[in-house]
Amino acid sequence: MRNWVTSLFLSMMLVNGLARKPGAKINVTHYTYQMTVSDETDQISCTATIKLKMLEDANAISFDLISVNNKGKGMKVSWVKSGEQSLTFDHAANKLLITASGRKGEEKTLQINYTGIPADGLIISKTKYGRRSFFADNWPDRARNWIVCVDDPADKAAVEFIVTAPLHYQVIANGTLVEETNIDDKNKLTHWKEAMDLPTKVMTVGIAEFAVNHLDSTGVVDISSWVYPEDRAKGFYDFALAKDVIPFFEKLIAPFPFRKLANVQSKTTFGGLENAGAIFYAEQMITGDRSGESTIVHEIAHQWFGDMATESDFSHLWLSEGFATYMTMYFMEKKYGVEQANNLLVGDRQEIKDFTIKTLRPVVDSSVKSFMELLNPNSYQKGSWVLHMLRQETGEENFWKGIQLYYKTYAGKNAVTADFQKIMESVSGKDLKQFFYQWLYVAGQPQLDISYKYNQQKRLLTLTVIQQQSTPFNFPLQLTAVSKSGSNATKDIDLKVTKKTTIADILMDFEPASIVIDKHTHLLYEGGTSAEKR
Ligand SMILES: [Zn+2]
Repeated sequence: MRNWVTSLFLSMMLVNGLARKPGAKINVTHYTYQMTVSDETDQISCTATIKLKMLEDANAISFDLISVNNKGKGMKVSWVKSGEQSLTFDHAANKLLITASGRKGEEKTLQINYTGIPADGLIISKTKYGRRSFFADNWPDRARNWIVCVDDPADKAAVEFIVTAPLHYQVIANGTLVEETNIDDKNKLTHWKEAMDLPTKVMTVGIAEFAVNHLDSTGVVDISSWVYPEDRAKGFYDFALAKDVIPFFEKLIAPFPFRKLANVQSKTTFGGLENAGAIFYAEQMITGDRSGESTIVHEIAHQWFGDMATESDFSHLWLSEGFATYMTMYFMEKKYGVEQANNLLVGDRQEIKDFTIKTLRPVVDSSVKSFMELLNPNSYQKGSWVLHMLRQETGEENFWKGIQLYYKTYAGKNAVTADFQKIMESVSGKDLKQFFYQWLYVAGQPQLDISYKYNQQKRLLTLTVIQQQSTPFNFPLQLTAVSKSGSNATKDIDLKVTKKTTIADILMDFEPASIVIDKHTHLLYEGGTSAEKR
């Protein structure tokens, strides 16, 4: 996901193998939503068929579904069945509690019928050209507004949407197209099916009038662009970028996780939302000049990181957002060069610093009241910077090996930060405990006061590095002495900083005119760009 501000700026160890919510009594394996929308009313009606497995003996099963609020918005459940048998239920305070007993290991199929006007989660509105549209916007836990589900990233499941809508609409969703039929002279049925397990945050449906362009396929993945008819030429041009981005990440990480990718102009409230196989972009991103390139790259990177390998809970969101941000950085590095990428990293470093001044929290953060608060520079820019530093720490080859192995291990599953750490330690043979602890579990970053003295007689440079923050970090620091004489002589000095104060004496063959800090943009720190002479 990208919030709009971020996209604008840039356009310049515990295995949860079961895909279950921690502590849950059930594991959903398959959702089918048969739903009807119309032009006459914003009310939707839906019959959900939910296949699940009991994880323990229980007498009741609970799902998330937003109840009708005092403005009349929300969902009202009409009936619940298991086969032909009607079940009693209680729907209150946004929880649907169904009386259904089951033994551990038992598989069940429940059907739930409900109607209502979504309070959120499915945006029913008009496009900027005034056409009526319906766009899901589930992230992070807003799916429950319109689809009954276990609305938690740890309970991943396959999903099918069977949508009946007036004939003039086209319907896009996760997965591959199963059926498209005009069922009478007014309505069309469209059926999409995704067999891979998805977190609810990236399940989606988009219903609007679209111009649709199927791009030349790079292989097994069907890549298409879905834009408003008025933006046909501009949108097809902008979204055609996907043809280059998918092979780039396939080569870098693994084959594309899904069988199709639709890039969709939409009414998402985010700059982009990485719905699995059907990415939604803010409608104003379509410009015809590809200024949304970094957003497209970011959302496509999420198909691997976030959608397919998913964080177990939102406190580890950086495993989605930091990864998508750094994969985008790497794409830019390869396409536009290291200097351009370093400029972006410097900009991100400033954003992290500005954020830290207001909010001193670690990246792995379970203290937030709303998951929306996690859409911050810690999850994105700092998460990305952590990967950048890990790339230096482990070396280029091991870093990408580790990224590939992490993906391979957790594809279709969930992971926490410790799982990723374990993988990186196994490929690099390094103990990364301190690295992960300080960068992800300690708030803030090194605040460096770096000064130097030069003794002309002894030709001795004395460097003093003081960490001013409360918890000292361990990190490599590169300082570059630049000659006074105009000979352009430079000397790189590599320091290993581990204590609050580090003093180093270096014998020089020239007198430094200045000492440049972190010339190659390898360190996340606060402080100036050059050391002070004292
Ligand atoms: Zn994102």
